[in-house]
Amino acid sequence: MSVEQHSSTNSKLGSVSNPLRVAVFGAGPAGFYAVEELLKQDGRTIAVDLFDRLPTPYGLVRGGVAPDHQKIKAVIRQYEKTAARPGFRFFGNVTFGMDFSLEEVLAHYHQVLFTTGAESDRRMGIPGEDLPGSYPATIFVGWYNGHPDYRDLQFDLSNAERVAVVGNGNVAMDVTRVLARSVDELAKTDIADYALEVLRHSTVKEIYLLGRRGPAQAAFTNPEIRELAELQGADLVVRPEELELDEVNREFLTLHASEQTHQRNVDILVAQIAKGEGTQPRKIRARFFVSPVEVLGKDGVEGLRLEKNRLIKDQNGVFKAQGAGVYEEIPCQFVFRSIGYKGHRLPGVPFDERNGIIPNRDGRVIDPATNAPLPRLYVAGWIKRGPSGVIGTNKPDAAATVQAMLEDADHYPASDGLATDFNAVIALLTQKQVRVVTFDGWKRIDQVEIAAGKKRSKPREKLTTIAELLAAAD
Ligand code: NAP
Repeated sequence: MSVEQHSSTNSKLGSVSNPLRVAVFGAGPAGFYAVEELLKQDGRTIAVDLFDRLPTPYGLVRGGVAPDHQKIKAVIRQYEKTAARPGFRFFGNVTFGMDFSLEEVLAHYHQVLFTTGAESDRRMGIPGEDLPGSYPATIFVGWYNGHPDYRDLQFDLSNAERVAVVGNGNVAMDVTRVLARSVDELAKTDIADYALEVLRHSTVKEIYLLGRRGPAQAAFTNPEIRELAELQGADLVVRPEELELDEVNREFLTLHASEQTHQRNVDILVAQIAKGEGTQPRKIRARFFVSPVEVLGKDGVEGLRLEKNRLIKDQNGVFKAQGAGVYEEIPCQFVFRSIGYKGHRLPGVPFDERNGIIPNRDGRVIDPATNAPLPRLYVAGWIKRGPSGVIGTNKPDAAATVQAMLEDADHYPASDGLATDFNAVIALLTQKQVRVVTFDGWKRIDQVEIAAGKKRSKPREKLTTIAELLAAAD
């Protein structure tokens, strides 16, 4: 670890008496927006250490955003500006609860903010869900994005003709697009090299995109569904009868008339009817009002059994899918369930299993037994509110939590209870033989990846193992 670099970053603060010391765990968008909000405060000196379990920062911007959506990744430039602010230090390759316990963290910082996101997935809860070939989209996304946790997975698409993607959110759009896009297009992105090779040999001809409700209720946004409709090499094929709007669907659209996304999604899909089967080699078959009830197969996925649904409005006014007792089977060799993310429990921190979040009130972590705030512990981003919204949604969300942190900080002297100085945390992690990656270390990784990408006309060639990343950081 570059102790010198870390020490010098905060040398300016060393002369300021009693800066508020904050630890942030999770260097994705919510983490960076919170750091920015903390460090731009006038009239208060704040020092922020941002930790991530990976040697690399940026969370889902690096490991989740689809490789063919490079423009979205430009937000990193904003995070780089935040990282250049006085008072900022990055500690990559440090795992909360393993390298650094809650007790130790609280001994070094006045306040602790968790922005660990939603790294696991929701389950369909149907027979056959764990057959080989049936996976959460989260790991497929991590795999094609070169995430170290998933880079060793094997997805043999060279013997598969059909894939089913369950869910109608933007992650389902990403997965469908990556499966349907031409390899020539993907080769210009920062997709992991091994994933590009697998996709080069893909024999997938049909991708079923399965929505349990209708086109009007789909969670995908207009640009994303339009992008599928405009893909080169693949046709977006719809069934006219599944786009017909009954009375309940019309009521839904009337009630949601102010959110134009719904009507526009319907219009984009209806415009596909005239194109029929189209002429491209691959077909994306968008199906609506169908729920998987069983993944079929003996030693691996062979198909999906679907139940047809109708849309109902229940007594609480919620528009829901209700099984109609009519079934069909579709053949497929892979199933990617893309039905939402869930947070992970962090050691020593309360967790709401049902919602997959850390229980909180306005960003203050609460004890679920008493509902009372747990002093000095905060949350922001998906681990606070669940997996919703786009990257920018995390900015006001993080700002609201920081507001609560600052209000609370007014009520206790900033020097209270901390027997350590700025660099004690470095000494502790060194003593524990944790190989911390600093922001300068990350910049070295960045340069190596960009240089390797240049040779292949890609924005970057990601290093995908922890060993490679640490070697580049050094
Ligand atoms: P999401 O938007 O919440 O979509 C989840 C989908 O899964 C919904 O269509 C939902 O249907 C369906 N679903 C849930 N449980 C199901 C079940 N048991 N069976 C069948 N379908 C089920 O989640 P996401 O796609 O994971 O995206 C997470 C967030 O990241 C979203 O806010 C998304 O917009 C954002 N994101 C944005 C982009 C982008 O901007 N390009 C890219 C990726 C992700 P119901 O509606 O019927 O519940």
